Amino acid sequence: MDRSIFCVCILFLISSCSTVTVKDTSVIAGARPLVTFVFDDGNETDYTLARDIFKSHAGVACAAITTNWLGTKNHLNASQLAELQKDGWEILSHTESHPNLRALSGSEVETELSRSKSILENLGLTVKNLVYPYNKTNETVKGIAAKYYRSAREGGSMPNPYALDRYELKSYSIKHNPGKMKNYIDNAYSEKKWLIFYHHQIDAKLKISDKNGNFISGEDLSFRPSGAMGQYTAGGIVFMGPAIYFTPLRGIPQADDTITGRTSGATCKLDRVIYNEKEDINGMIEYIHKNYPDMQIVTIDKGLDLLGIP
Ligand SMILES: [Zn+2]
Repeated sequence: MDRSIFCVCILFLISSCSTVTVKDTSVIAGARPLVTFVFDDGNETDYTLARDIFKSHAGVACAAITTNWLGTKNHLNASQLAELQKDGWEILSHTESHPNLRALSGSEVETELSRSKSILENLGLTVKNLVYPYNKTNETVKGIAAKYYRSAREGGSMPNPYALDRYELKSYSIKHNPGKMKNYIDNAYSEKKWLIFYHHQIDAKLKISDKNGNFISGEDLSFRPSGAMGQYTAGGIVFMGPAIYFTPLRGIPQADDTITGRTSGATCKLDRVIYNEKEDINGMIEYIHKNYPDMQIVTIDKGLDLLGIP
């Protein structure tokens, strides 16, 4: 008697398990864990920093280009874009002048979306996908985007749902919180979802003391004894004390380094690294490769292909 009850229970368990499995499979058909990194606005650090980070991990990323900014100060130029594309990066359109598309007339949106694509294509680049400036869109903008692009990305701070709207791809901004970024990766992996991160210029912020002289914007900085190198951006404040922002070009600055400006001769002591986006992004890629080797880092276009989206 006990044995037969046991068998019934087992049968019930098997049938309920198989019901759950069938249900899940139907919901997640075609789903897979993917990660995409997009750098918005065409900052020069896409080429000077991000390119090497991704290359060192045999990975790829995307550069979203506002064509009016091409070749201007601190922005990418046409030959850097061509090299990025040759490395496997995807070049995305990010409009011609970076407006809030919701505030424009239909014909103005049409101009922004069509001209940015043709300007990039006339440089010999392949451009299939769009990023909305300020992540802002609406039904009218989406309709016009669909005339010129395969997909378009907005914000949303969430992974992409299984049944995604390809003119409303969801994305997270990369924040100075490596633990939180890793949580997003963990969740996307376990739920087999497509995670899109976006970022802008890559920089770093340091708390400093004992400052002597004034650094000059754009000058090279050397860090001793760590041997790191960077480029000064601007001064700042942190916890009532002085800080500096800089572009981290080589090596990893360490607490107690002495920082010297190559042109100004100004010096200071590095008290603490507040954040270093170069190391943060590098850490995210290493985390994915170490923990989830089957979670592919892909371009937007490749992500759409892998998910079977037209
Ligand atoms: Zn932008």
